[in-house]
Amino acid sequence: MQRILSSWFVQGMVKATSDMWLKGWDERNGGNVSLRLDAADVEPYRNEFYPQPRCVELSQPRAELAGCWFLVTGSGKFFRNVQLDPADTLVLLQITDDGMAYHIHWGLTNGGLPTSELASHFQSHAVRKAVSGDKDRVIMHCHATNLIALSFVLELDEARFTRMLWEGSTECLVVFPDGVGIVPWMVPGTDGIGSATSEQMKTHTLVLWPHHGIFGTGPTLDEAFGLIDTAEKSAEILVKVIAMGGMKQTISREELIALGERFGVTPHAGAIAL
Ligand SMILES: [Zn+2]
Repeated sequence: MQRILSSWFVQGMVKATSDMWLKGWDERNGGNVSLRLDAADVEPYRNEFYPQPRCVELSQPRAELAGCWFLVTGSGKFFRNVQLDPADTLVLLQITDDGMAYHIHWGLTNGGLPTSELASHFQSHAVRKAVSGDKDRVIMHCHATNLIALSFVLELDEARFTRMLWEGSTECLVVFPDGVGIVPWMVPGTDGIGSATSEQMKTHTLVLWPHHGIFGTGPTLDEAFGLIDTAEKSAEILVKVIAMGGMKQTISREELIALGERFGVTPHAGAIAL
């Protein structure tokens, strides 16, 4: 057995994708995850890499990520199968030094390509790497059921959507004080939706794709998963509350402000002002 299969990053990706499948967020080939790695992370496994790595041109050059390594889920692969065959369903790639292409060094043993949302992921990675001071390393996309459901009934306004999620569960304001960015409905897998998403990623750690799903970011797979899990939990509560006839009482603006002060976070100004 290859040693890379027991590396922290392959094991971490197996756990994240398995948990996401069990949450019901990733039916069929839904969802995609990418994790930015350092050369030192992959160095111990170099002798298990392809002797002649496949080279794939990027649709948009990404000079900001030149030389970066990524572990990514494969296009058309099912999250429920990642745990059964990580070497077929995942791909380890490195962006070339000129940022024009990437080389596939490991994974996709039966061929294929990284996720069709790779352009979105790379655009968002470039933004989060810059705004987080190199801390954020994960972009995670999934079809979180209740967040999608809410996108049909709540106004698609970032301040209003954020405020509802904050009220749905007390921990939300602390976990995502910057709120949820929202892009218009767009065709997935295009550079256009990638640009719109990364624009929102400049000021948010969560970006909603209405009637489709959610994008989350964070320094680790655990953090990105936990972020989406927290928002989705609140969305589930809101779906139940709305189905039961709506809120009779809620967390007030003053209480939300006190929550932010207690935990030392600055809440999204538009959402707190409502
Ligand atoms: Zn999707």
